[in-house]
Amino acid sequence: MNAAIETLAGWLAASRGGVAFTGAGMSTESGIPDFRSPGGVWSRYRPVYYDEFMSDPESRREYWRQKCEAHPDFAAARPNAGHAALAAWEGQGRLVAIITQNIDGLHAAAGSSQVLELHGTALEIACQDCHARFAADPYVIEYSRSGKLPICPECRGDRLKHATISFGQQLVPAVMHEAFALARRADLFLVLGSSLTVEPAASLPRTAKEYGAKLAIINLAPTPLDRVADLVINAKIGETLEQVAKALTAA
Ligand code: NAD
Ligand code: ZN
Repeated sequence: MNAAIETLAGWLAASRGGVAFTGAGMSTESGIPDFRSPGGVWSRYRPVYYDEFMSDPESRREYWRQKCEAHPDFAAARPNAGHAALAAWEGQGRLVAIITQNIDGLHAAAGSSQVLELHGTALEIACQDCHARFAADPYVIEYSRSGKLPICPECRGDRLKHATISFGQQLVPAVMHEAFALARRADLFLVLGSSLTVEPAASLPRTAKEYGAKLAIINLAPTPLDRVADLVINAKIGETLEQVAKALTAA
């Protein structure tokens, strides 16, 4: 473990173009459950697919019920030591960007400025008809109180949802292009808390490696890319990055 910490600190010390790729495991130490671990979101909810949301008011109500139930975890979450370490490394010129699958806004809250959100953000609501956007909190609080589908103040439609990519909804092509461009340019590609089982999560680290980056994975569970990685650490991200930051300062 100590040797792995030292190795990663050494790579970060030399890096001027690192990219971090983060998944749900990045935020479990901030109190937001991940999807695929036991007790994770999928063990409790039937996901509402995008086409159901668009065509059926009852599916929209189910969507809002689930979001209201998940809301307290998101509202209470604060960045953890791992988010803080990444923000510091951006400030020091070691990391150029974070690509995240998370929708919780915790990287920006920790002070990271170059954050590419592949799955959008839960901090905003987007009208699916006129594309107007609003702060999410008041809508979630109002649905919890009234159980009535929110109405868009701009176009009076009732198809308002979080500005996130739902199941069955396409990723945004321009965002994906940017993510792969970052992966190709990275000198160090750091995977943090992703099971790497869905696309594009599986392809981004592979691309970075093919274009010459060192690939490091920190994840509690094994991933399908462990055997191509240069370094794998099966430990908690927050605790691990805190130790890496200390080793980096000491060096
Ligand atoms: P995932 O749930 O498939 O995998 C998370 C991985 O993180 C697991 O392999 C687990 O072993 C690991 N992990 C959990 N806690 C960890 C910790 N403290 N340290 C190290 N590893 C840890 O997550 P995914 O690959 O990101 O895919 C899930 C999808 O769900 C994403 O697309 C994301 O958009 C969404 N999601 C987002 C949030 C969030 O915004 N915080 C939360 C849940 C789900
Ligand atoms: Zn609208």
